[in-house]
Amino acid sequence: MEFTAEHNAFREMVRSFVDKELTPHVDEWEKAEIFPAHEVFKKAGDLGILGIEYDPAYGGMGQDHLYTMIAVEEIGRMPCGGVPMAFGVQMMMATPSLHKHGSPELKEKYLRPAIAGDMVTSIAVTEPDAGSDVAAIRTRAVKDGDDWVINGSKVFITSGTQSDWLCLLARTSDEGGYRGMSQIIVERNAPGLEVAKKLEKYGMHSSDTALLTFDDVRVPISNTIGVEGRGFQQQMEQFVVERMFASYGKAESMQRALDKTAEYLKQRIVKGRPLIASDYVAYKLADLSAQVDVFRAHANAMAEKFNRGEDTTREATISKLIGARLARDVGDWCLQFHGGMGYMEDFWVARYVRDTRLGSIGGGSDETMLQVLARIDGFTP
Ligand SMILES: Cc1cc2nc3c(=O)[nH]c(=O)nc-3n(C[C@H](O)[C@H](O)[C@H](O)COP(=O)(O)OP(=O)(O)OC[C@H]3O[C@@H](n4cnc5c(N)ncnc54)[C@H](O)[C@@H]3O)c2cc1C
Repeated sequence: MEFTAEHNAFREMVRSFVDKELTPHVDEWEKAEIFPAHEVFKKAGDLGILGIEYDPAYGGMGQDHLYTMIAVEEIGRMPCGGVPMAFGVQMMMATPSLHKHGSPELKEKYLRPAIAGDMVTSIAVTEPDAGSDVAAIRTRAVKDGDDWVINGSKVFITSGTQSDWLCLLARTSDEGGYRGMSQIIVERNAPGLEVAKKLEKYGMHSSDTALLTFDDVRVPISNTIGVEGRGFQQQMEQFVVERMFASYGKAESMQRALDKTAEYLKQRIVKGRPLIASDYVAYKLADLSAQVDVFRAHANAMAEKFNRGEDTTREATISKLIGARLARDVGDWCLQFHGGMGYMEDFWVARYVRDTRLGSIGGGSDETMLQVLARIDGFTP
């Protein structure tokens, strides 16, 4: 992949930010089961990391997509998945629709502070009874004068205990199915919107996750993003960007996991010789490393295609699916080759295995990716 000197300088800048400001705090944030998103995002916002491709009129950098890929790769080098996931929400899950479809007033009020790191954002789609089947959501927004009045609940919301606004997908008409949904910006301190529970998770500990309830929450109708009734379609576009995020950090983190495992195996002596001297072990690492290379090539080609302004729905679906499965495989083998050490909580591998497990579920499960792919490729009617 061809990068310019400017791309490389940007990579160095993000790497230094991650190494100095984020990585040293990871253990503390993992234990606390939350990281200080306002403090961290303010620093990232000051460096331009949160609005890389966004319009300079709202504080964005107006750069090409390769800068985004670089930033996600570098953030993905952190020794945890939770904080990178929250960055992903801020950069590529909660804000793309607002940037593409939002009114100038909405962008001024909500996008500018999100880019600056003054406001933390969440994306609120999943409900207790509707995850994979987005068309089954029931959270309802009804017009009353100039307001929407919102009732319902959203679950598994990343950064949900500390975000300032949500990009909410709600049902705004009786049409049912994929029709009659809208994306609405809801401020988290709006009366009637409660964090019903901070959820405890198997992994991604440094990221807070919430169950949110909406009880007659009033929001101006002017907070609707884009076209009323087109929320599902706009969210599907937003999911493509989310799935590209899920891919970019993965190759880097998988290669690091393999490299760190190889280092360990060079020193671990079993039956009088380093474990890495076993062909079985070395071939397995080489096999996984080769697959990571192929995955990276696919992710790079996807980034270049998106950069040319072409549709990457198929590529994003494939890389979300394959990357998640490969990361699980890499994590499992790395843990296996570390033996009992790999199973210890204070060692990096256990966290890596837990955090990467989400890849096959969050942002659409593997089966949802297969469903989308089967449709795109014409295998299903
Ligand atoms: C840590 C975490 C953070 C998250 N963050 C957010 C967030 O910020 N915002 C948000 O809106 N959501 C968020 N989610 C929700 C996530 O996107 C959903 O969990 C995911 O879409 C799957 O939905 P579900 O959990 O309801 O699973 P279900 O829909 O109940 O599906 C369960 C399982 O069934 C299988 N399955 C599903 N559909 C099919 C099918 N058609 N055919 C065959 N098998 C199928 C899959 O294996 C799937 O994992 C988060 C989830 C987690 C765990």
